[in-house]
Amino acid sequence: MQKLYECRDRLQAQMLHDALAAHHIRTVILGDYLSGAAGELSAIQFPVLWVVEDGDYPLARQLIDRYLGEPQPDRLPWRCGRCGEMVEATFDICWNCSTPRD
Ligand SMILES: [Zn+2]
Repeated sequence: MQKLYECRDRLQAQMLHDALAAHHIRTVILGDYLSGAAGELSAIQFPVLWVVEDGDYPLARQLIDRYLGEPQPDRLPWRCGRCGEMVEATFDICWNCSTPRD
């Protein structure tokens, strides 16, 4: 079993669990919050998603990155539609004329 992802909350953990299940990857959610005796949250921890089969890890990792929309390293520079300048991939507006990337 391998640690896959530290989730923001229980809802996200469940969504990722279900998304991976659709690809036949088994995961478990651990480190969930504990309910206090009176029903309030006594200890908040981030739920952690673990992949059950180690062999599934690389695919699970890729699916999570895609699912969460993490920035892709292969983003390319773009050309401003207004002034024609080339703009670095990390910028969403033109450095020259402030036109947003379309
Ligand atoms: Zn421009």
